[in-house]
Amino acid sequence: MPRVAFIGLGRMGHGMAGRYLDAGFTVAVWNRSKAKAEDLIARGARWSTSPADAAIDADAVVTMVADDEASRTVWLGKDGAVSTMKAGTLAIECSTVSYDHALSLSRELHARSLIYLDCPVTGLPDAAASGKLTLLVGADAADLETARSFLVPLSTTIRHFGPVGAGTVYKLINNLMGAIQIAGIAEGLAIAEQAGLDMNLVLEAVESGVAASPQVIRHSKRMVARDFGGATFTAALRHKDAAYAVALAESLLRATPVMGRAAVEAYAQAKAAAPDDDEGKMIELVSQPKAAQ
Ligand code: NAP
Repeated sequence: MPRVAFIGLGRMGHGMAGRYLDAGFTVAVWNRSKAKAEDLIARGARWSTSPADAAIDADAVVTMVADDEASRTVWLGKDGAVSTMKAGTLAIECSTVSYDHALSLSRELHARSLIYLDCPVTGLPDAAASGKLTLLVGADAADLETARSFLVPLSTTIRHFGPVGAGTVYKLINNLMGAIQIAGIAEGLAIAEQAGLDMNLVLEAVESGVAASPQVIRHSKRMVARDFGGATFTAALRHKDAAYAVALAESLLRATPVMGRAAVEAYAQAKAAAPDDDEGKMIELVSQPKAAQ
């Protein structure tokens, strides 16, 4: 059976690793904190003492960790995966990282004769656990074909945007546009609440109006109900993605990315208030009434 090392068992990675077990792959897992691996071990995954240990026999190493720093640690740090990967092994980075990091990691891994794919994803944790993610791939076309059997268990859609880095470009613009929409709907709803509008009617109008998008529809309902149980995407991660996207914008565009910077600022505040809470709790920050003059 194909052998996969899966590194990073958070909200997304845990379900993705489970998909390989469901598909009959031989799976080695590593996570910074072992507790998240216990049920995967019970289902047949091999617990590894480090990313390097996980990668020893792997045909492909797949990572799903928080950010650039975590990615650098699990690939290139002490006991990082690259230290044991054999030439020609697939290195599939599914975490949302910055564009610069994706390119520099690709160069480092290429220099070690590894095959690197830039493979961030869209979809929530339930999509990760049920193999319904969309994969946003940046890779040589031939490398994508070599890797395809490792991508199929995770996804219903594989979009190939171009060479390494291209998947990350799309992921970052997608999440920046999402950040702007979510911060925008929080402000809009807060205004309506403080003005005393019937919020059921507001929701009905938002959902059927021209400002609606899947993102706006999903978050507006949860914001009005203040229903943030079981965070799916945290304020800290949304802030990270928006900041990476703005850095990319600043490297490419003459104009200042005003909207992007505003989203970064909005999510910096949400992150400072509650980094691990759901991103939609932004509404609680912006809905406070103005103090009486
Ligand atoms: P999460 O639940 O917070 O999990 C983060 C993972 O990164 C955990 O396994 C964590 O280990 C690990 N990690 C963090 N810092 C580390 C470090 N310095 N060294 C080693 N491991 C480290 O996050 P998530 O929601 O699964 O997101 C994972 C990635 O997917 C992120 O890049 C995120 O932007 C992206 N993403 C998320 C969603 C979503 O809906 N949640 C959707 C698409 C993409 P511990 O368990 O030990 O903390």
